[in-house]
Amino acid sequence: MVGLANIYVLPISYSLLSLVRPLNCMEMKKISRRKFNSRLGKGLGGAALLAGMPLSHVTACAPKQKDSLGIALVGLGSYSTYQLAPSLQDTQYCHLAGIVTGTPSKEKEWAQKYGIPSSNIYNYENFDSIADNEAIDIVYVVLPNSMHVDFSIRAAQAGKHVICEKPMAMNVEECDAIIQACEKAGVKLSVGYRLHSEPYTQEVKRLVREKTFGDVHYVSADAAYMSRGNPDQWRLDIKLSGGGALMNMGVYSIQSVIYGTGENPISVQAQEFSTRPEYFKQTDETITAQFEFPGGAAGNIMTSHNASANRLYGSCDSGWYELQPANHYGPLHGRTSEGEFSFPHERQQKLQMDDFAKHILQGTKNLVPGEMGKRDMIIVEAVYKSIAEGGAKIKLDLGEMGLS
Ligand code: NAD
Repeated sequence: MVGLANIYVLPISYSLLSLVRPLNCMEMKKISRRKFNSRLGKGLGGAALLAGMPLSHVTACAPKQKDSLGIALVGLGSYSTYQLAPSLQDTQYCHLAGIVTGTPSKEKEWAQKYGIPSSNIYNYENFDSIADNEAIDIVYVVLPNSMHVDFSIRAAQAGKHVICEKPMAMNVEECDAIIQACEKAGVKLSVGYRLHSEPYTQEVKRLVREKTFGDVHYVSADAAYMSRGNPDQWRLDIKLSGGGALMNMGVYSIQSVIYGTGENPISVQAQEFSTRPEYFKQTDETITAQFEFPGGAAGNIMTSHNASANRLYGSCDSGWYELQPANHYGPLHGRTSEGEFSFPHERQQKLQMDDFAKHILQGTKNLVPGEMGKRDMIIVEAVYKSIAEGGAKIKLDLGEMGLS
């Protein structure tokens, strides 16, 4: 396939340009619409010059910029079914365009419920042919953690923007592989941390950023729920989950202490507690960890599959802030030493997916870039390392990585 990039990077002088035959509309169409669009902003004028054609000719042939991007959900489990698909009925900048499922009965069910044409329905085997489907712009990977890396990379190689659910992958190496695949393909990448688009969380970030109560001295975050269900579920299977409470809920508490201080931690010490080893055979049940932050704040997290907790608290020079609940689907509840604060409730996933679509369409900030997911995985690995070393202090050198 001839790419515009191949044309406009040629080191030829302007005098030679008139010798280059302008592309006709048919030839332009052969250039994939996604690649064309993604390069429109940075290279269209140059491409037109180098190809010796007037810009008006190019824009006449160019596909119209979409105002809503098509999302394909990969994995139709509970999160896709009860959160993402309903949220996509309310989104403004993206819509549910396709599905990828390994369960044939879901194909019919979802097609009927959401009016999805058969041309936009894939299984895990024929997934790669999604590359040819112009109705799909974004692939959202909502599979067990061990499958994130494979499907995120395949999505990027198919030329689709990627949202990868949290935790981003099984380890840092896999996060790197996803980031590199997206960079190589020239597609955008986000991780499914919905709270960055959520107003209570944004308010905490603002209080911290503007030092409304001065410097943060102590931050504490709990993210936990009771797991009593099917002992064979993938979340309790280390090969599919990569870890227990820490990989599942713990990443929220790690996120909380980071935006609760506005800084990345510089060290961590961690402890693991096990009271139901017959149920949590392979994965961690409860973990606590303490963090040091470069500005002097101390942080503590608790994450568990054997307790119910959902809170972020920060103690500052001249006051405090609290979210409780802090990370469920909302509405959340916020308080400070000066009183309560509240915002109208909207589905967090709607806000999250619209923010990512706007990032692609309008160049707004990517609120949850891949490096944020990778940073959290570095911290997760350090927590497990500390536990393996009997609670040793593990130093972290994250700089500004993933701060937003
Ligand atoms: P789920 O168990 O409800 O769904 C998993 C889906 O993967 C199912 O459709 C299942 O058929 C499919 N699947 C394919 N291969 C599988 C295998 N080998 N074993 C098990 N299932 C397999 O899980 P979920 O709650 O929808 O979680 C999916 C992903 O979304 C996870 O990474 C999870 O961490 C993430 N998640 C994120 C949030 C959030 O708030 N951001 C909330 C829930 C889940």
